[in-house]
Amino acid sequence: MGRRLLMLGPPGAGKGTQAEMLCRAIGIPHVSTGIMLRDHVERGTDLGARAREMMDAGDLVPDDIVIAMVEERLAADDAACGFLLDGFPRTRAQAEALDDVLGSDRMLEAVINIVAPEEEVVQRMLSRGRSDDTEEAVRTRIAVYGEQTAPLIEFYEARGLLTQVDGVGDIEAVLARVVAVLAA
Ligand code: AMP
Repeated sequence: MGRRLLMLGPPGAGKGTQAEMLCRAIGIPHVSTGIMLRDHVERGTDLGARAREMMDAGDLVPDDIVIAMVEERLAADDAACGFLLDGFPRTRAQAEALDDVLGSDRMLEAVINIVAPEEEVVQRMLSRGRSDDTEEAVRTRIAVYGEQTAPLIEFYEARGLLTQVDGVGDIEAVLARVVAVLAA
């Protein structure tokens, strides 16, 4: 069965891991803008060259770039009836663009907000060793999250789509919570 899902949460809350496992379990594409952007950086594309510095600093890549990427990805056949968005939208403009891309026939079904305390997410990120996981970039990402992305919680709550899931605990325990929410 296709599902149209969105995963929100602060950087380091374990969204990416949960999203990947969930997508494998239910057989829908995992649409992660962070993974797509890192892939551009690794392949040395023009887009990757433009995005790299912003990513390493913990800043957001401009809306038009990520919106175009997601629009193209969601137009692929495998996303016709199901997908899980991870790391997108991160701004109000991206959320509004997503509404336009999905239209009325593919509206989101559920938004899962993975929550974890700030000190925990900082520690998790500093232990990952990604190039944008330096302490300074991590602090910037958390600040950017608070200013630009956290307001989306209310945006989706107002539509009755949002469920909070406690992201503290081991990976399997958190996944079980996510699955329970989707089964409800
Ligand atoms: P993530 O893997 O989701 O933590 O993303 C890594 C980095 O990619 C972020 O810190 C941003 O620089 C960039 N990025 C990923 N998704 C987006 C997005 N939706 N909007 C803007 N920048 C993004």
